Amino acid sequence: MLTLTVLGCDGSHQSAGGAASGYLVRSWDSGTSLWMDAGPGTFGNLQRFTDPLALSAIVLTHQHHDHFSDVEGFITAARWVYGFHRAPVPVYAAPGVLPLLSQEIDGILDWHEVGDGDGADVGDLRLTFSRSDHPPVTMATRVAGPSSVLGYSADSGPEWSFSAFGPGLDLALCEATYTVEHEGTAGHMSGRQAGSNARRAGARRLVVTHRWPTVTASAILSEATETFGGHVEQAAVGRGYSV
Ligand SMILES: [Zn+2]
Repeated sequence: MLTLTVLGCDGSHQSAGGAASGYLVRSWDSGTSLWMDAGPGTFGNLQRFTDPLALSAIVLTHQHHDHFSDVEGFITAARWVYGFHRAPVPVYAAPGVLPLLSQEIDGILDWHEVGDGDGADVGDLRLTFSRSDHPPVTMATRVAGPSSVLGYSADSGPEWSFSAFGPGLDLALCEATYTVEHEGTAGHMSGRQAGSNARRAGARRLVVTHRWPTVTASAILSEATETFGGHVEQAAVGRGYSV
């Protein structure tokens, strides 16, 4: 069984007391754990749910700060606080993230740049990356466990589809930044677009995330529910899903 725990889900910047994009994916068969995106606020929340020193890998989908900046906190804590006596943590990151870091990563992180179609094995998880529809190179991420599969859109406009991950998605974690009246104004999706994207790909469940903090959650959810044609859940910090 996989679980997905929301560490942060605010779109593009943090709300008051909130956290931007970040998720903890765990395989309970093997103890494998993945920190998927490290937006501001997510390192603090990560420590509520797991020991950061036990992480199996980190995925950073793109170079926007709201998806990677808390990896800096991890590096600092690992170097100066934890007493880091383990192998460097593998990182699978889109191009352009590494040059933005302010610290040396030697001995802490084992950096791998990934592109469209690349894959990686992390414990019993198989990761596959697909370039999404978002201005900097952005890697939507498929995570396949021993018996279930989840797909994460990362940031994306509607030109990318969950179909890129093939059939059999048990859960689609899809960005839905805003509502229908904002469609086309940025490289993001509305609730309407997120719902139809997941439905067309045959996803069994849909969780929408990356809500712009001033957009009403219920408005996004109602659009997504209508086009998905079934129950949709809105991500919230601390909420967990078994997949
Ligand atoms: Zn972005």
